[in-house]
Amino acid sequence: MNTTNFSSLTIKEIKTQTLEELPDKITVLYCRLSTEDANEGESNSISSQKQILAQVAEREGLVNPYFFVDDGFSGSNAQRPDFQKALNLVEAGRVVNFVVKDLSRLSRDYLLSGQLTEITFPSKNIRFISLNENLDSSKRNSQDAYLTPLVSLFNNWYSLQCSEKIKLSKHTKAKTGEKIGWVAPYGYLKNPENPKEWLVDDYASQIVKRVFKEYLSGKPIASIANGLRKDKILTPANYKKKLGISNYRVLESDPYHWKSQMICQMLEKEEYTGATINLKTAKISYKQRNCRMRPREDWLIFPDTHEAIISKEDFALARKMLGHKRAVQRNTWKDKPGHENIFAGLVFCENGHKLSFCPQQKADVNLDHYKCYHHRRAGDSCSGLHYLRKNVLEELVLTELQQLISFTHLDEEKLLEELKSRFDIREDKRQDSLKKQLNRSKKRSKELDAIIQKLYEKQLLDEISEDRFRKLADSYESEQAELDQQIRELQEVLVGQTESAENIDKFMRTIRNYTKLEKLTPQIVNELIDKIVVHQPTGRGKSRQVKIELHYRFIGEI
Ligand SMILES: [Zn+2]
Repeated sequence: MNTTNFSSLTIKEIKTQTLEELPDKITVLYCRLSTEDANEGESNSISSQKQILAQVAEREGLVNPYFFVDDGFSGSNAQRPDFQKALNLVEAGRVVNFVVKDLSRLSRDYLLSGQLTEITFPSKNIRFISLNENLDSSKRNSQDAYLTPLVSLFNNWYSLQCSEKIKLSKHTKAKTGEKIGWVAPYGYLKNPENPKEWLVDDYASQIVKRVFKEYLSGKPIASIANGLRKDKILTPANYKKKLGISNYRVLESDPYHWKSQMICQMLEKEEYTGATINLKTAKISYKQRNCRMRPREDWLIFPDTHEAIISKEDFALARKMLGHKRAVQRNTWKDKPGHENIFAGLVFCENGHKLSFCPQQKADVNLDHYKCYHHRRAGDSCSGLHYLRKNVLEELVLTELQQLISFTHLDEEKLLEELKSRFDIREDKRQDSLKKQLNRSKKRSKELDAIIQKLYEKQLLDEISEDRFRKLADSYESEQAELDQQIRELQEVLVGQTESAENIDKFMRTIRNYTKLEKLTPQIVNELIDKIVVHQPTGRGKSRQVKIELHYRFIGEI
């Protein structure tokens, strides 16, 4: 619609005009509508704004009126196309009248609208009319003009309130675990009947599973991405576009071009475990669109809200492996079979330095090794280089694990007993007696509360001598302090024991999964081991010996 006939006037929209076509002096009829305004009803709609402004233009006989329309723009943002066009014309001295329905159409930023109505418009001799506030700069007795800054201030405040309100309702929803994101992550589809519910997308979820499986088996991220590209799998954005779910502006020219970053993002999506995660990002200010990532501990995580694609265990493992951020090698070692760093992030020297992985190949011999870069480095001292070949470490770890596994299968009872005694987990009877003792102590502490209270009452009523009161109160209070200390200790012991028992249980469950172990993979290593400490080797040549400590996951060193 290029022209509108609301009155006898025919008014064109500025969008259909070039600057050359415009007369020298014009009247700006400015309309703006944001999504929030639209919710408030028809009175703010663009057509209703146009109608009102056209009537004013006719009644006041304003010259050369043009509609300037920004539909879908918030008043707290000045970067609106037609608004900017109008301001440019104002600057160029080509505007004689500037009309809006109300001040907030101009801007919700009181500094900006104040600047315009108080300084710019008067200095350019522009007649400014805002209907709702009954403002007309040409009418000298329009006392309301003095209120303009106040009205602007109010608009600014309204904007803030509005954004706070939206934020608040979003937060309330977020805290109840309601899904507040716009789109479901790749692998899920929104239920068309209930958009708050996610359904597993059969096709995409297979791709997610494939990525996790390949990553956990130790395949480098770049190779996973290349594999998907080779198999002509659409990237998530292109897939969503194909389904008509989302309209991404910029799409890769090659719709199968998976980037390492996409794989990383997928591996970090906890939603795949069935969890809803709210408040991952925070808005910086109501005046800006940008968001920043909140720290993970501030996220609201609601487990098991939809069907999982990836098990919690696999996800945790992937997270652990990602956390180690496999060092990027300058050359393409990591893509060459045999040169994988299967102990990525796990190997340390006895002085607590992370050992660096150095892939190396001489003739046909694989010389991959680990070493400590803190050795002989200025300002840093490490007792030695801690040089250890990868295949040696692999053999040592493999042997240890094999022994542990066969031991588990031969005599699980005994291993369990050893672990329990190591973690000081007592028999149930003993634990029962601890619990009973805890209850007794708690009861006595409560009794003392009552006694001490009574004592103070007596003292207030002068029923007891000051001297006697002091003595009694002191002894009761010290008894209570002792009890409270005892309660804390007992609770710590009990909690610690439950935790250790659970950890031992987790460890045993993991190890039971392996009946025979022939080759190490990053998955097995990460499932069972948290840390490998390498001591400085002793001796040379054939008598060279190296001691390593394996810190197992959940249970530590055995
Ligand atoms: Zn070191």
